[in-house]
Amino acid sequence: MGYSNVYGIPGLATIRPAAQLLDGRVAASELKAQVAVEIEQRAAAGERVPALATILVGDDPASHTYVSAKRRACTEVGIRSVHHSLPADSTLEKVASLITSLNADEEVTGILLQLPLPAHLDTRLLLDLIDPAKDVDGLTTTSGGRLAQGTPGFVPCTPKGVLALLEHYDVDFAGRRAVVVGRSELVGRPLATLLSQRDATVTLCHSRTRDLAAECRNAELLIVAAGRERLVSERHVAPGAIVVDVGIHRTAAGLVGDVDHAAIRHRVAALTPVPGGVGPMTIASLLENALAAVRTNPLAPPL
Ligand code: NAD
Repeated sequence: MGYSNVYGIPGLATIRPAAQLLDGRVAASELKAQVAVEIEQRAAAGERVPALATILVGDDPASHTYVSAKRRACTEVGIRSVHHSLPADSTLEKVASLITSLNADEEVTGILLQLPLPAHLDTRLLLDLIDPAKDVDGLTTTSGGRLAQGTPGFVPCTPKGVLALLEHYDVDFAGRRAVVVGRSELVGRPLATLLSQRDATVTLCHSRTRDLAAECRNAELLIVAAGRERLVSERHVAPGAIVVDVGIHRTAAGLVGDVDHAAIRHRVAALTPVPGGVGPMTIASLLENALAAVRTNPLAPPL
């Protein structure tokens, strides 16, 4: 895009405006403050406050970090959190019996099974043992079905956080060409569903998409959740696009996303940073879901 020297002074190096940063830390702290206020009010009124049980199987360092961050955030807003750590070689029966006992535990209002699980465990089977009324991660088949039907239910935290971040910055979805890269059950597929329910015109790309760059260039709103370091660069973005980078990769140079930020930041209108974009919103959405679990009839939890 041909930006001119903004001072109009011949010979001065060209200065190109950079994208607006969609700051997830700011938006998340507002959401967290709202959750904290409501929990305080519930406690003062003698009403039920949320208690989240987290389950971590094995000792994957990244999963440890994520669970710790989620538990810290719970404490900050007044959600009680109880952690269960199981060895990596735990049997399916052992994990299943923990989930069943947490379902029955009236003190526990939400259950989070941290993914990924060790390869020998059946993730879908274990997720579906979670009582749908306590499914604060929104990953049971029941929650997925409710989302697909557009009926109220728990929405997975990362897609919910992405939408909340865009809404925080007043991005409207109706009629927009939105392209989602990645079709996982955790991120891409539910995001595509949510955007379509908000009247965006959605294209869902994946590893078999024939010309990814061409599909992405068509996007007014581009959301990348492919799990491939710096997959998206200048040739993938249209001038003026809004870009959400869901990816997180630990590299020697620090955390990087699925988007090459340096390559596109002068071309697009807005961009989420990594870190400090989608990550904090994911955690804030978990807190919102944990609160929703105590707020309503458990058979019809709200979005
Ligand atoms: P996943 O591996 O389950 O799914 C990746 C998807 O991307 C698949 O559908 C695959 O078809 C697609 N894909 C892979 N390579 C591609 C390519 N070259 N072109 C087009 N599509 C391609 O990953 P996931 O769980 O959905 O996570 C995606 C990324 O988001 C990861 O980097 C993960 O760490 C990150 N993540 C971040 C947060 C957060 O809070 N910020 C939360 C969840 C996941």
